[in-house]
Amino acid sequence: MAMEEIKKTNLDMFLWLSDIPAARLSRSHFSGRAKSDMLLNNLCESFNKQLVGARDKPIITCLEYIREYMTMRIVNVKKMQATARGPLIPQATKAWDEIQTEASKLTVMMVDEVTYQVKSLRSQCVVNVEDRTCTCRRWDLTSMPCKHAVAALYDMIENNMHVGTFIGEVG
Ligand SMILES: [Zn+2]
Repeated sequence: MAMEEIKKTNLDMFLWLSDIPAARLSRSHFSGRAKSDMLLNNLCESFNKQLVGARDKPIITCLEYIREYMTMRIVNVKKMQATARGPLIPQATKAWDEIQTEASKLTVMMVDEVTYQVKSLRSQCVVNVEDRTCTCRRWDLTSMPCKHAVAALYDMIENNMHVGTFIGEVG
């Protein structure tokens, strides 16, 4: 769908993107092995930005700069983790709160014991709570239940079905 739009608006871009394997561009083709929603490019750009001050230094000085930067980063992450009031760090808690808010706006229809059709005004997804998958692929790729999965789990709770193993891991 998106590629067809790109083809209509920019043929050169379409041809350039067509040469790149879908597994590198599209969530629908990602393997799910990494269990992260972080974009690699953001990591690299952030790291490169930090190294600007060391690029023109001799190799040992540059490596020492990187070691000190990484040490400070690890300490800062540990400090942030220490501020967590629950099992999640503050950023994940905020994301989780947003997921729960969005989940409450969705309509859920049970298909069978483990499969749920979850609809919003514009789209729908199919959640499998046993396999921990959703057709949006966020649950598969990050291990954090997406809004569709949470909506399905809420529906299970409302119908007195056991969800402890699902909600217990994130809440
Ligand atoms: Zn989903």
